Amino acid sequence: MKSFLRILSLLKPYLPYVFVAALLNMLTVIFSIGSVGALIPILNLIFDTPGTDLSHAAEWKLALAELVESYKVEHGPGKTLQTTVFLTLCIFILKNFSRYGALYILAPVRNGIVAQLKKQLHDKWMALSLRQHSELKKGDMLTRATADLNEIEWSMLKGMEGFVRDPLMILGTLILLFTMSPKLTLLAIAIIPISGGLIATVGKSLKRSANQAQEELGQNTSALEEVLTNLPVIKAFVAERAMSSRYQASLKLWTKHMVSVFRKRDLSSPIAEVLGVSLLLIVLYLGGMEVVAGRSMTGGELIAFVVLFYQLIPAFKNVTNALYDIQKGNASAARVFDVLDLEEARNGHIAPTDQQWNEDIRLKNVFFSYDDTEVLKDLNLLIPAGKTTAIVGPSGSGKTTLLYLLAGFAHPQQGSISMGSLDLKKAELKAYRNKIGWVPQQPLLFNTDFENNIALGSEHNTAKINKALEAAYCTEFTSQWTQGKPIGEGGASLSGGQRQRLSIARAFYVNPKLLLLDEATAALDNESEARVQKALEVLMKERTTVVVAHRLSTIKDADQIAYVEDGKVVELGTHLELIENGGKYSALVNLGNLNADS
Ligand code: ADP
Repeated sequence: MKSFLRILSLLKPYLPYVFVAALLNMLTVIFSIGSVGALIPILNLIFDTPGTDLSHAAEWKLALAELVESYKVEHGPGKTLQTTVFLTLCIFILKNFSRYGALYILAPVRNGIVAQLKKQLHDKWMALSLRQHSELKKGDMLTRATADLNEIEWSMLKGMEGFVRDPLMILGTLILLFTMSPKLTLLAIAIIPISGGLIATVGKSLKRSANQAQEELGQNTSALEEVLTNLPVIKAFVAERAMSSRYQASLKLWTKHMVSVFRKRDLSSPIAEVLGVSLLLIVLYLGGMEVVAGRSMTGGELIAFVVLFYQLIPAFKNVTNALYDIQKGNASAARVFDVLDLEEARNGHIAPTDQQWNEDIRLKNVFFSYDDTEVLKDLNLLIPAGKTTAIVGPSGSGKTTLLYLLAGFAHPQQGSISMGSLDLKKAELKAYRNKIGWVPQQPLLFNTDFENNIALGSEHNTAKINKALEAAYCTEFTSQWTQGKPIGEGGASLSGGQRQRLSIARAFYVNPKLLLLDEATAALDNESEARVQKALEVLMKERTTVVVAHRLSTIKDADQIAYVEDGKVVELGTHLELIENGGKYSALVNLGNLNADS
């Protein structure tokens, strides 16, 4: 129930709303009970039962009887009936007014809480380091932000409403019933713990199933997402069948858990109804005996008593449903809070000074691992300011990871990365990244226009954007583009070379001090490649550049080359020095494993 309490704590900013809604709910209860109370004189007028002993009756009954009696003497029975019917109708209308009023007021509260959680999840994802993201599944995250939040909205918040209104209803009705016939009412109260016990047992088991179903839905969405992303590969390798059966297996599990959830939830109504109707019949029998014997109850009162009891049944049902719903929503809330509680990488608060930006970057005894895989192992490297350092090495040796660490996406678990005297762990990452240009291997583009892709939410300066487009040789395709037209998902409306140049233009826009470049290995046609290369050359000039390089031309021109193998720098020097050394780098060059494009 911890998650439930946390959801409750989110209600704090809405307390005035909740207060008014609670008041309206109270009014609903009062009108609801009053409307049935008002039935008594009507029924008594119709079924006039003389000879009933009212000496032990509750005061309100006597007062009501007297009031009706004097009205009847003055205006006659017909007019009395008319007035009481009219008053009863008014009470019913008021009851429904206040009930709707409570829902009306709570609507923005329910949606507000969901929106608040959605925003928190969204921001949390952006705050988590890429290392943490490597442990999370995209589909599962999306399920938490959609299905789980829906569940919270539908089950938990709806349940909460029932949880406030209906117990009040039960309490008020029971008090009224007590004044009408303590004996019958006590009997009803005696049965309540039995129903409570039954419901709690089913509720526990429902929570377990709901949790499993939601977990499986996450897996399910992940699988779907992967299919959508990798469709061309699936088709090319005729993997449709394998994918389909993998998905089918996950669906089967999900169905199993959902069936169990449905069955258990659906059990709540029959249980509540059987309990309610049994109670009702007992009341009818015992109350009927009283009326027949002409003791403390009139026939009209018994009918009112029964109607009140009948109101108790849905109220009990609502409370039990609310309990189930809250249990179910609790499972979803726990899944949302699990993500929100993930600890964010600690961010330093020292902004790098201009002087530090002009200093060398030193990686000292750096160790880094994802999950259990150790990727960087005691890596040492000095990156000279204003020069180009090319990182070369076999695939999987940790080159991209090295760039990630330099961008501050994650911090080394051991060792340090420092720029001049500033340790990156202590640096204010936003200020640091503001002066970094990052060109990833796969251009990451948004489905919006060129301008927004380049400025990416930072200050929008059209002149600067145009300059960046020009510098990255983008104008030849952007100049013919309709102003403001989106470029398709992931830049789908552009060619591979155009996407890369746009990604380079983004780095130009930042005018970075440190440029991190993951050279594309994707085969571009010669012309595109030449243009991308040209754009990069301009960009790299006079900046501290770290490039994961695949093209011999980039590598040869670099001021130093670091050959990385198994998470360590094993050779360091210029192209000529390393060739002369005759080590691993020279073997690589001799084998022609680099894209010899120049
Ligand atoms: P390179 O760029 O040299 O090819 P990477 O830095 O991309 O190498 O990867 C180094 C190792 O780290 C690989 O063995 C890879 O399996 C692992 N790795 C990379 N990214 C992740 C990730 N997000 N989660 C878990 N392991 C990863």
